[in-house]
Amino acid sequence: MKEGNFLDRVMEFEQQLEAMHEQFRELIGFVAKMTEENHSLQLENHHLRTRLEELSEKAQVIDEQLPPEKPRRMDIGEGVDNLARIYNEGYHVCNVHYGSSRKGEDCLFCLSFLSKQNS
Ligand SMILES: [Zn+2]
Repeated sequence: MKEGNFLDRVMEFEQQLEAMHEQFRELIGFVAKMTEENHSLQLENHHLRTRLEELSEKAQVIDEQLPPEKPRRMDIGEGVDNLARIYNEGYHVCNVHYGSSRKGEDCLFCLSFLSKQNS
């Protein structure tokens, strides 16, 4: 092997190492992002489960309290109130992003959904 040839191959190898290092950093960044996302999804999931349990308990109490003749209207009203509350707590109730965090922004899908339910 000639000396020039050898140096070429060393430099080529160095470039490959750098490219691999770059890929490795991207991979680590991706894992960090996924971990963070997973964590926030777990929190959100936990929050929604708690809310769901609360709402189920409330719905049960209402079911037991209501006279059997006209339960429909009250159920619907209560459901809309709960959805509005969930929305106000910062979560989507629209079928586009249902259950995910609004991240402090208003959502037109949610608002139109809620106003349709109220009318
Ligand atoms: Zn929404």
